[in-house]
Amino acid sequence: MTLIVGVRYLLASGGFALATRIRHPGLYRGLDGQMRREIAWSLASAAIYGVPAGIVAWGWQNRGWTRIYTDAAAFPLWYLPFSLLLYLFAHDTWFYWTHRWMHRPGPFRIAHAVHHASRPPTAWAAMSFHPWEALTGAVVIPALVFAIPIHVAVLALVLTIMTVMGVTNHMGWEIFPRFIHGGPLGRWLITASHHQRHHAEYRCNYGLYFRFWDRLCGTDKGLGRFDLAPGGGGRGAAGAAGGDGPAGIA
Ligand SMILES: [Zn+2]
Ligand SMILES: [Zn+2]
Repeated sequence: MTLIVGVRYLLASGGFALATRIRHPGLYRGLDGQMRREIAWSLASAAIYGVPAGIVAWGWQNRGWTRIYTDAAAFPLWYLPFSLLLYLFAHDTWFYWTHRWMHRPGPFRIAHAVHHASRPPTAWAAMSFHPWEALTGAVVIPALVFAIPIHVAVLALVLTIMTVMGVTNHMGWEIFPRFIHGGPLGRWLITASHHQRHHAEYRCNYGLYFRFWDRLCGTDKGLGRFDLAPGGGGRGAAGAAGGDGPAGIA
């Protein structure tokens, strides 16, 4: 399972890093050393993510553990999209609160500083976590499959969304069309422009997929601008994310 997670990371981050080279050549110029560190931390995280995932996958196959099901008719059809949203919301909730906690001085120094050493992050930073932080992330989905029924295909979709958003949110530019991050959907969904601001300012925008908790708790500062990234002189070529309606940056 560690091998699968590692290869998945290399393919996803490598693919989007390649897209970055084509779309915004030079965006990662001067970041070679940082990217090597991001890859090393990410592969260590992949090893950690693989352990609970491997145990649970084994238990599901051999011992009938978990509430993963394969017969799509076992629950009403509406449950398929509902379970997808439920998993994303549960993961987002766990991430928001553990992430906020890791911004307290002690946990930050011990666990979260590694992730913020990426200034600015690149597509390779998706899993660039200290092992302590990787551990907090690695247990979420393996724990949820014991509590909330999910079709195996929906679970695959959850993992795909997790991987793609993890990479694209750190990529340094917006891959989604403007109507998504600049429109009504973007007021609730997190894409690169939102997470970029977390990496630039630290004490805001803690969420993973949704802006729900940030908005509710007053930690949402709106979208960031890529040309304001630390050390990012000239990165305006990546395209500024712009404002965010009434809640936007001035
Ligand atoms: Zn990040
Ligand atoms: Zn953080």
